[in-house]
Amino acid sequence: MAAAPTPSAPLVCQKCQEPTTMSCSSATGRNPLLRACNGCLATERWLTRSSARPKVGKTESEQDKERRVSALQVKEDLKKKTPEEKAQWYQSQKLQRAQEEQSKKRTFSSAVGSVEDIREKQNISDDVESFVTFRTWAQQELTLKTFSTLAEAKVAWEKKIKDPNTRTMQKHGETLMYEFRGRMDIGSQEDLDEYHEESGSRMKRARQRLDIETAAKFEAGEAELEKPVPLLTVSKDIGQLKEIEESRDEELFSLATKVAAEKKAQQALKKEELEKKPKSLPLEKLAFEAARKKAIQSMSDVGLRLRSSLTAQDTELEKTLETESQDLRDERSEKVKEIDQMLASVQEAMQEKDLEWKEWENSTCPEDLALKKSINDREKAAAKTSANKKLSGGEKNLALLAADLCGCTLEPTGSVDYSYIGPNLLKKNSPLAFEKARSSQLTATIRGLEYYRLQKSWVAEKMKSANTSSSTAMISKKPVVKKLGDVLLRSWSEIYGGAEERACLTGVPEDMKDHFVVQFGQRMKKTCSVLFRTDLNLPTLVVVLEGRLTIGGFRQRVLKGSTEAEKAAEVDALKAPDVQRIVNKDGWVVKLEAESSMVLPPDTVFFEIASDEDVHTVRQLLGRECFLPCAKEYLKALKSAGNLQEGSRMHKMLEYLKMDRASAS
Ligand SMILES: [Zn+2]
Repeated sequence: MAAAPTPSAPLVCQKCQEPTTMSCSSATGRNPLLRACNGCLATERWLTRSSARPKVGKTESEQDKERRVSALQVKEDLKKKTPEEKAQWYQSQKLQRAQEEQSKKRTFSSAVGSVEDIREKQNISDDVESFVTFRTWAQQELTLKTFSTLAEAKVAWEKKIKDPNTRTMQKHGETLMYEFRGRMDIGSQEDLDEYHEESGSRMKRARQRLDIETAAKFEAGEAELEKPVPLLTVSKDIGQLKEIEESRDEELFSLATKVAAEKKAQQALKKEELEKKPKSLPLEKLAFEAARKKAIQSMSDVGLRLRSSLTAQDTELEKTLETESQDLRDERSEKVKEIDQMLASVQEAMQEKDLEWKEWENSTCPEDLALKKSINDREKAAAKTSANKKLSGGEKNLALLAADLCGCTLEPTGSVDYSYIGPNLLKKNSPLAFEKARSSQLTATIRGLEYYRLQKSWVAEKMKSANTSSSTAMISKKPVVKKLGDVLLRSWSEIYGGAEERACLTGVPEDMKDHFVVQFGQRMKKTCSVLFRTDLNLPTLVVVLEGRLTIGGFRQRVLKGSTEAEKAAEVDALKAPDVQRIVNKDGWVVKLEAESSMVLPPDTVFFEIASDEDVHTVRQLLGRECFLPCAKEYLKALKSAGNLQEGSRMHKMLEYLKMDRASAS
């Protein structure tokens, strides 16, 4: 309970916490200074009335019951509110009441008045019972500021009741003091008696009072009529009162409904949050994991590149300083060593960071079945949506199949061409193999390249960090690309075609150009991949530089499915013996040693198995004019199956191929 304010402090309503006056409020308890304003009292009465059970013996109508339940709900809700919320609620109720009454006043027309319950009660008792208690007396005196403190009033009261001229009486053991209120003149003693005798409704009495007052005013002159009738608050006629009550009931009901709806919404929200939590975690984990891998990848790429350039510069310096003094040469090795150490510490810091992130990843979201499932689903979804997918990456079964194929002994088989025949490659999808001599110039050139040595270690690191068994890396050094391109053209001229056929790729979309750059391929020993088709479904030249590679495949036409997805599912379901059976019956197997080379045909499912040493290859997509329809048909099929996103690289490529064909024909 709030402490009583000191008399100098403004009087505040205990319900709505808004300032009030003595005359516009009543005490809420024994302490006369703890007040509730008339507005809040009306709200309280309304709530109490609405929530009251029917009197014993009386039946409750359905409507009354509904009203009572609603009121109880609002009361219950009110109990749970904080003091601030409570005050706010009372304020809003008061405001609403005032607005309602304001709007009713505007439509007020009849002279029938009613008396607001509390005022009537208070005023009538004031008039009839003119003996007041100390509390009542003190309230008035304090309001009138006759005394500034309750103690002062008490002293004055004691003095007054001891005065023999003061009329007092005893009631319930308390001394009451007679007080002239100036209201006894409104009627005769009969009027007064009537108040006591009348057992009819208060409304009737009030109306009578109003009549008397109006008559008195009328006699006093017309001007007096304009003035408000004292004591009585003529505010609404009976019908309007009922209307207001009804609208209050409606409001009560809607308030209760709102409370119930809010509760329900809160519960639903809680439930949703609970459900969401375990579901969203795997996605967040995946996002974090991806971000971590990407960060580590790009950092290690930079590190490796720096190391490569350091090695290159070191070699160069060594040559330059060959004829210089020993001091200078010593300085060189010292400096190089310093940089080397710095790079090593960077590497170390990076690994530390990676471990820290990994730990965070695992501690925040422990791997569980739901998580694993989610990751698998996501991978599958990603594999399905990405065009030109390499099935070996995404599909679990294909990875298993690849692992099984590693252990198989596959002997060369099937129809293989040894010289280029266009229709065989494109229509029959026959592989094309070349004798070793064909690659001698290329392998000699590459072995002499410092770049090749550097990229080998770089790609090996990349594969380790990405946890893959194979990788292809575009050659980024322009002079090297040019040099190798020239050798490739000279050595495999019939595959590349004439100059005008190769010119067809000018204007290829910028982000697709990488596909046509010469690449170095690397495969770890004793690993295998199964691929659904070549990149962009274009014939691809593969030259083995080091190691031994077994490549086998079969035409996609062997598969029963009609769509890409159906065929992919079919391949995914294959076991190693199935593949062996198919290649022996309808496919082919080629064994490539170092310096051997071949062209992979389009529309072909193929696998490649590394022997017991790492395999290094050169790979080149053949973007020759007469091969491009393979890519176009493939991309068109992807598009019609809805797997080609508008604006994606592949989509742009298809647009380019369409345009190119149109202008060429
Ligand atoms: Zn109030």
